[in-house]
Amino acid sequence: MLKSIQQKLVLIFVLIILAIMLVLGTFLFSAITNFYHDDFKSQMENTFNQDVIKQLEEASKSENAVNDINMILDVYSGVIGIDSYRNYYVLDGKTAEYLTGTDPLYGETITKTPNILSALTGKMGNEVKSSGEFMEYAVPLPQTNPPSYIVYIHDTKVEMNDFIFNLIKILLQALVFGLITVMLIAYLLSKTITTPILELTSKAEKLAKGNFEKFPTVEENDELGILSNTFKYMSETLQSTLGEIEFEKNKLETVMKYMSDGIIAFDHNGKILVINPAAKNFLGIRDESSIQFDEFFAEYFEDLYMGDYIYLYTDKREERIKTVNDIALKFYFSTLKLGNDNHGGIMVVIQDITKQENIERSRREFVANVSHELKTPITTVKSYVETMIETPDLDNSMRKSFLSVVDKETDRMTRLVQDLLTLSRLDSNMIKENREYFDVAEAISDVVNSLAFEAEKHNHNMTFKTLNEIPPIYMDKDKLGQVLINLVSNAIKYTPDGGEIKITAHSINDIVTIKVKDSGIGIPKKDLERIFERFYRVDKARSRSEGGTGLGLAIAKEIINHFGGEIFIESEFGEGTEASIVLPIDGNINKEEEKNIYKF
Ligand code: ADP
Repeated sequence: MLKSIQQKLVLIFVLIILAIMLVLGTFLFSAITNFYHDDFKSQMENTFNQDVIKQLEEASKSENAVNDINMILDVYSGVIGIDSYRNYYVLDGKTAEYLTGTDPLYGETITKTPNILSALTGKMGNEVKSSGEFMEYAVPLPQTNPPSYIVYIHDTKVEMNDFIFNLIKILLQALVFGLITVMLIAYLLSKTITTPILELTSKAEKLAKGNFEKFPTVEENDELGILSNTFKYMSETLQSTLGEIEFEKNKLETVMKYMSDGIIAFDHNGKILVINPAAKNFLGIRDESSIQFDEFFAEYFEDLYMGDYIYLYTDKREERIKTVNDIALKFYFSTLKLGNDNHGGIMVVIQDITKQENIERSRREFVANVSHELKTPITTVKSYVETMIETPDLDNSMRKSFLSVVDKETDRMTRLVQDLLTLSRLDSNMIKENREYFDVAEAISDVVNSLAFEAEKHNHNMTFKTLNEIPPIYMDKDKLGQVLINLVSNAIKYTPDGGEIKITAHSINDIVTIKVKDSGIGIPKKDLERIFERFYRVDKARSRSEGGTGLGLAIAKEIINHFGGEIFIESEFGEGTEASIVLPIDGNINKEEEKNIYKF
């Protein structure tokens, strides 16, 4: 009902005042009543002493007794305190009938009260009861049974009641005034208590909502001061603890956000507790709220159940591999223990192993390719040699042709082994560099001249020209020569007889570009992007018959990249191919610059 402390305090004050007034009123009421009765009794006893009674008894014996008694009483009326509320009466001693008195109207109605009854027997009727409606005193004259007359004093108590009524009025006025004053004081007093409590409450409410307002230091050392300061301390501790938690959370979130591995934590109901962007990305998750462990992973692994990790084995760890959306993923599942929660959950770490898988695959392919490339010439050499051994009388021309096949196949193997060695050195960055300043045009001319005979054999029209002045370039001349020989001999090999082979070179902004363009068979679009892979050949039979190893372009790319350059091949199937080398003249510039420069 009463909600605020202030209201309660005011009520307490009011109740206290009411209680005080009640006690005071009761006490006063009884004190006044007692005083009046005691006063009446002592007044009567003092008045009706032996002398006065004697006088009255004398008078009662006279002829005109009633008149004489009346006269004596009249003399003492001041002492008796006769007024409009207190009267005396002379009654008949046998019947208690009214004979005379100060209030004849009341006198006629007098009944036999206990005091009158005792006076009728000759005893003093001096019993003054505080509970009665009136006060009375009856004196028998003489004190015989029955007396001749009775002097009866009757007080209506109206004066006393008036006095008490006035007193109550004053008390009530005092009560009203006291209540107003007390309410005002209680209100102001309680305000001094409730104002800091209200302030504290509002700050505590803000604190609960996470608004860390500054709590002022309170100097007072009372209970409220201690409470305020405790709140201030609590707020500061809470703020710093929350700050630390926030910092830790942010740290963790940042780590999770930028982690390349996917992380998902599931609770014991299979619901996601934490998931990072990498995991969402790998598994194509948009809304994680509806995901349930068993349902979700059933799509990837038929026999994966959450219960195994939580209830059957409490420390289970497992690795599984699955390709999802063309990405090879490795899943690590392990039981997750969450604080005191016995149920725990599951932790899933997801790694993208596509690169490793690709490396592993290309390693396997590479070994298979090398074995395959070596197997053919070895089988040929072995079969020819065996035939020669088994046929000692083989004629000379046959033997010569056999030996030339063996020679050719051995050359092929030598070339293959040499190419493999070069690649391995390039891979491990162990190629011998012989850097020098040399004239690119001259180096190209040397290559063109060395292959001119080969081109002529196929009736190709092979030309070379520089489009502008090319400054000397700083790199390994032999390595550039090796790359150029590969490009030009490819142009010769893969162009039908009588073709056009144009070799050009120019330089712009310290960059030298060499182009080898042919009008040959070209390369289909789908093969273009794989052309620099090791052992990749568009037409395997043609390449082999031309003595190719399928490693030439792979080696060319490694060499050019090593010296900070780039190599591109553009081709139109059936129309021709253009191979371009872009090289920095200092032989090695950083990659970022290259990207910008190559846009010309
Ligand atoms: P290979 O020793 O087989 O020539 P390369 O690495 O030099 O090996 O070339 C790889 C493949 O690229 C060749 O087998 C061929 O199919 C294709 N190729 C290279 N240059 C040309 C070209 N100028 N015209 C058509 N195809 C080419």
